[in-house]
Amino acid sequence: MIFEGLADKLQNAFDKLKGKGKLSEKDVKTALREVKLALLEADVNFKVVKKFVKKIEERAVGHEVLDSLTPAQQVIKVVNEELTDLMGGSQSKIAFASNPPTVIMMAGLQGAGKTTTVGKLAKLLKKQGKNPLLVAGDIYRPAAIKQLQVLGERVDQPVFSMGDKQDPVDIAKAAISNAESNGHDVVIIDTAGRLHIDEELMDELKNVKKAVKPHEILLVVDSMTGQDAVNVAQSFDEALGIDGVVLTKLDGDARGGAALSISSVTGKAIKFGGFGEKLDDLKPFHPDRMASRILGMGDVLTLIEKAEEQFDAKKAKELEEKLRKQEFTFEDFLDQMNQVRNMGPLDELLGMIPGVGKQLKGLKMDEGELDKIEAIINSMTIDERRHPEIINGSRRRRIADGSGTTVQDINRLLKQFKQTRKMMKQMGDMTKGLGGGGLKG
Ligand code: GDP
Repeated sequence: MIFEGLADKLQNAFDKLKGKGKLSEKDVKTALREVKLALLEADVNFKVVKKFVKKIEERAVGHEVLDSLTPAQQVIKVVNEELTDLMGGSQSKIAFASNPPTVIMMAGLQGAGKTTTVGKLAKLLKKQGKNPLLVAGDIYRPAAIKQLQVLGERVDQPVFSMGDKQDPVDIAKAAISNAESNGHDVVIIDTAGRLHIDEELMDELKNVKKAVKPHEILLVVDSMTGQDAVNVAQSFDEALGIDGVVLTKLDGDARGGAALSISSVTGKAIKFGGFGEKLDDLKPFHPDRMASRILGMGDVLTLIEKAEEQFDAKKAKELEEKLRKQEFTFEDFLDQMNQVRNMGPLDELLGMIPGVGKQLKGLKMDEGELDKIEAIINSMTIDERRHPEIINGSRRRRIADGSGTTVQDINRLLKQFKQTRKMMKQMGDMTKGLGGGGLKG
């Protein structure tokens, strides 16, 4: 995951400060030296690091911080704010045209993840209620058109293609007319990439730009290439002019140098981050949340969003009703467990909870334990799931045999379930209203 090494080093530096209580100017400077080294090791642009550390030093050695009751916390707060600022400050969104279709042109070198990102972006926009048209404008890379068509099918949005014999400018223009007549409010144009920046590529992109006047030019760069990604972004911005950056492969970039430098070097915001190869792996980039994660302060907002995506309101209401009536069963238990699992790998989720990330480092969450619970519940009859109190000794043996577990495993789960039910009952009582005396139960 991104920022792994950096997060560790920064948190170590600040842990030393936290142990001190009162801080001297020297303490802060020592910590900042460690911050500087950590950033350089994370492959952050040298000039960016220098400016960053200087800014923090100016803010952190002032009386306001050192004389405060919690100086270490204040230093971390300053670093958090400056890290956020370094990555662009606030979230930067796509500027949709008031007169649709909004035309988004994607640019980038070959292999950066451009075509994949077109598919991912289409899916993301579709979730927001848009109806995007995908345009196959990369006529040079073998299979790029086919690749986009496959992505379009998976997102269930049409792909506009004229094969690989037409001029990209004509393709782009025809695509926009097509979008207008078919009611597409967004057009996402894939364009050709090259292994390196060359004049021919830039000319082609400039021609497309001139012909269709995109509302948004998004540059796709591979974060794993570090400072090269920053240089590429700078060159594209100078030659073509870009409106924002999509940083791909953040899932494989343990250092994070590009993410931390690109915005301050180019002045362009990182609008989206690619966190994997799947279509759902493109996320809006939130500088503030990234900064919190680097500093081990968790990312509660993303966690809540993930939960909201998974838990539908109707089910939540039903569950609440069941709690009230004390009808919580093993079926609900399994349902809840699966909803949480659908949110993503457990260790990743726990890493978003403040303070948990660091403790969990190196500890793999035991998904096997959850598989076991699922197998046990699946081996129960419907009656047993709804009325666990009927599960006697011989039933326990049967369930253990059926699920490939032991009677001890069944006992443990039954005990756990009983506790959960009791807790749920208490919560249910509390929601009945303050006058109900629910806390007694
Ligand atoms: P293009 O030449 O720029 O159009 O690149 P592609 O879209 O074909 O992507 C190149 C490779 O990068 C493919 O194997 C993609 O699956 C992969 N890729 C793209 N984005 C991501 C990402 O965010 N994370 C990971 N792990 N792989 C990615």
